Amino acid sequence: MSTTFSQCSKCQALNKLSSQKALEKTPVCGKCGENLSMHGLVSDINSQNFKKIISMSEAPVVVDFWASWCGPCRAYGPEYEKASLQNHNAVFLKVNTEVEQQISAEYGIRGIPCTIIFKNGVEVKRQSGAMSAAQLGQLIK
Ligand SMILES: [Zn+2]
Repeated sequence: MSTTFSQCSKCQALNKLSSQKALEKTPVCGKCGENLSMHGLVSDINSQNFKKIISMSEAPVVVDFWASWCGPCRAYGPEYEKASLQNHNAVFLKVNTEVEQQISAEYGIRGIPCTIIFKNGVEVKRQSGAMSAAQLGQLIK
């Protein structure tokens, strides 16, 4: 069974959960009981939890670095969400570069949206710009 991660919007706790269960009903935070809001199987996370997940996940981790002011990022959002539902073998995360400002410098992100795939904590692929769900699916394979 595939596993995904979700960060609680209230207490910031990192929750590990089954993808199947997350799709069946709204998961709740194991720490504070707040509903965990996910978009498809995409989780919004901060840079601290992002680092934990990439080092902890056995499955490939796909990360969309984005910002709310970026038009192409907003257009990419629904396609990214769709890809998360079509590729249960990977974990899908979103990092808001406006909120997590240090991360862009740390990962050398020059333009957004920027999609990076990590395996065992190491970057294996990087793609700049918006993609269709199908293109992203190809990138993950
Ligand atoms: Zn919580």
